[in-house]
Amino acid sequence: MSVQVVAAKMAEVELKDVPTGKDLPAVSPVETPASEGKSLARGDPQKAGSSDAASPTAEPSAKAGEGSLASLAPNHAKMPQASAMKRTDPQQNGGEAFVNRDGTVAEAPRMKKIQFADQKQEFNKRPSKIGRRSLSRSISQSSTDSYSSAASYTDSSDDETSPRDKQQKNSKGNGDFCIKNIKQADFGRREIEIAEQEMPALMALRKRAQGEKPLAGAKVVGCTHITAQTAVLMETLSALGAQCRWAACNIYSTQNEVAAALAEGGFSVFAWKGESEDDFWWCIDRCVNVEGWQPNMILDDGGDLTHWIYKKYPNMFKKIKGIVEESVTGVHRLYQLSKAGKLCVPAMNVNDSVTKQKFDNLYCCRESILDGLKRTTDVMFGGKQVVVCGYGEVGKGCCAALKAMGSIVYVTEIDPICALQACMDGFRLVKLNEVIRQVDIVITCTGNKNVVVREYLDRMKNGCIVCNMGHSNTEIDVASLRTPELTWERVRSQVDHVIWPDGKRIVLLAEGRLLNLSCSTVPTFVLSITATTQALALIELYNAPEGRYKQDVYLLPKKMDEYVASLHLPTFDAHLTELSDEQAKYLGLNKNGPFKPNYYRY
Ligand code: NAD
Repeated sequence: MSVQVVAAKMAEVELKDVPTGKDLPAVSPVETPASEGKSLARGDPQKAGSSDAASPTAEPSAKAGEGSLASLAPNHAKMPQASAMKRTDPQQNGGEAFVNRDGTVAEAPRMKKIQFADQKQEFNKRPSKIGRRSLSRSISQSSTDSYSSAASYTDSSDDETSPRDKQQKNSKGNGDFCIKNIKQADFGRREIEIAEQEMPALMALRKRAQGEKPLAGAKVVGCTHITAQTAVLMETLSALGAQCRWAACNIYSTQNEVAAALAEGGFSVFAWKGESEDDFWWCIDRCVNVEGWQPNMILDDGGDLTHWIYKKYPNMFKKIKGIVEESVTGVHRLYQLSKAGKLCVPAMNVNDSVTKQKFDNLYCCRESILDGLKRTTDVMFGGKQVVVCGYGEVGKGCCAALKAMGSIVYVTEIDPICALQACMDGFRLVKLNEVIRQVDIVITCTGNKNVVVREYLDRMKNGCIVCNMGHSNTEIDVASLRTPELTWERVRSQVDHVIWPDGKRIVLLAEGRLLNLSCSTVPTFVLSITATTQALALIELYNAPEGRYKQDVYLLPKKMDEYVASLHLPTFDAHLTELSDEQAKYLGLNKNGPFKPNYYRY
C-alpha cells in the first residue's frame, strides 16, 4: 500500500473530499519566522524496515504543493497533503577582561559563585584527547542556550569519564551509540512512557500506520533536543519504517536516561548532557560519517546538522530527499542558503506552521512563564507589578498567565496594533522608563536586542527579577552588567544576584537566556503538536514524487496544520461541528477544509 493511503488511514477526524494540491491556495505567510521541539515494538529500529518554489526572501514565502499524502489517498478519506553564531557561555568567563560601555577595558567583575552539581564540569574547556579531530566550527546559539527544562534527572557530573572514552553495549550487544550511561535505560523508558501519554497524535500515527510503513527505506539523521518527547517522535518514525541516527542540537538539553533508553532500544544516539563544543561536532559527525549508511532525510533543529553536512559531506545531498527544520534560527539559515542559490534539496519550514506558532509560542509560554519564575525565585505573583516587553504571541501568553495570578501587568510595544491589543485586553501600555523604578519583575519577549539596557538595570528597584522569554540572550544587555563595580553572586542554579555598590541587587535569571527552556519544563502536549508536524513533513518530503518540491523552502499547507490540530482534539473529547452541504456552498469551502484562507490570522 502506498504511503499516502497509509497516511490517509491515520486521520482521526474523517476527512472527506479533500481537495487535491492544485486546489490549495499558495501559502504566503506575512510574518517573519517568530520563534524559536507507549513504545512501539521495541525491537532494533535500525532493522526497521507541485508546488511553486518559495521565494527565498528574508520573509518566508512558500507555497503549498501537491502533497503526495493527499494525491494518492483514497477518495473517501484523504489525509491532508503536505505539500549562531559563536557564543561562549558567560558562566565561564571568570578572570577575563571586559570592555566597558565607554570602550575601556576592565577586569572581570568579582564573581562569588556557588558551584552546583550541574556546573561542576566546565564542558567547553575539557581538553580534547590527543589524536581526536578538532571540530572547531562554532555551534549555533541555540545549541549552547542552556536548556535544562527536561534536563536529565541523572547528573552528568556523577561520572567524570567522557562517554567518548567508554565502551558501552546495549543488552543485545549493539554498541553503535555514545551516551552517558546505558544502565540508566529503564529510568529513561519510564520517562518516555510518561511523555507518550501527552503525545496523542504521534501515538495515533503509530496505531493507524499499523503494518504500513510510510517511511520504509527512510534513513533519517536527526539533530534535536534529546528528551523524552523526542524519543516518542523517534520511536514513531521508526514504527513508520525509518532508520534513525541522532545527535543533540544543544549541549545541555540531553536527558541522559532517555538517550540510554533509546540506545537500549537500538537507536544510534550520540549525545549526553554537558557536551563540549568538540563533543558536539563529534556526535554530529558520528551520525553521518558511518560506513554503509547514508542519510536520505534530515530532521534539524537549529541548522547545525545541515550546516555540517554542507561543509563536510556535500556529496551526501545527492541522496538526501529533504530537510525538515523546526527552529527560527535553522529556518533563517535555510532561507539564507536558498537566497544564495546554495540550497540543493527541498526543505520544510515547520517553525512557521500555524499550529507551531500559535501553540508553542502562546500556550507553551502561558504555562511555562510561571513555572520558570516560581522554580527559580519562589516569587508570589499576586499583587506584583510586572512589565512584559513585547505583546506578540509569547508576550500575550506571559501576560495572560500573570494577570490570572493577580499580578498588575504593564506592557511595552513598538507596534500600534499589538499595543492596541494589549490595551483592549486590559493591560496598561507604557514605556519601559515610566515603570522601571516600580516593577517587581521585568520579562522580555520581543525577539529584539537591547530592550533592557544598563540604564534601566541601574534604575530598577532592589530585588527586581529580570528575565527573558525571547529566543536569544540579546534582549537584556547582560554584558553591560559585567563591569568591575558590580558583584555577581550565584545563589541558585540559573539565578544570579547582581549587586550594585550601594547594596541594591537585581535577580537575573538564566543569564538572560530563554527562561522557560532554561529553568522550567515545557508542556509535552505542545511538543506533541510540533513533533507531529515534523513527522508529517518527513513523510511528505520522503514520498513526494520527483519534481514536486524544488530546491527551496516550503511551508506545510494549511490542511496539514488543520490535520495536526484534528489529531489532538480527541484528547479533549472535543466534538467538531461539520459543515452542512448548504453551509459549505454558502461559504465556498470544501467540507473537509481548508477552512481558512492562508492570510487568516487566528
Ligand atoms: P512576535 O513577533 O509575535 O512578538 C514580538 C513582539 O515584540 C512584536 O509584537 C514586536 O512588535 C514587539 N517588539 C519588538 N521590539 C520591541 C521593543 N523594543 N519593545 C517592545 N516591543 C517590541 O514574536 P513571538 O512569537 O511573541 O516571539 C517572541 C520571541 O520569543 C522570539 O524571539 C521567539 O523566538 C521567542 N519564542 C520563545 C518561546 C519560548 O518557549 N520561550 C517560544 C516561542 C518563541
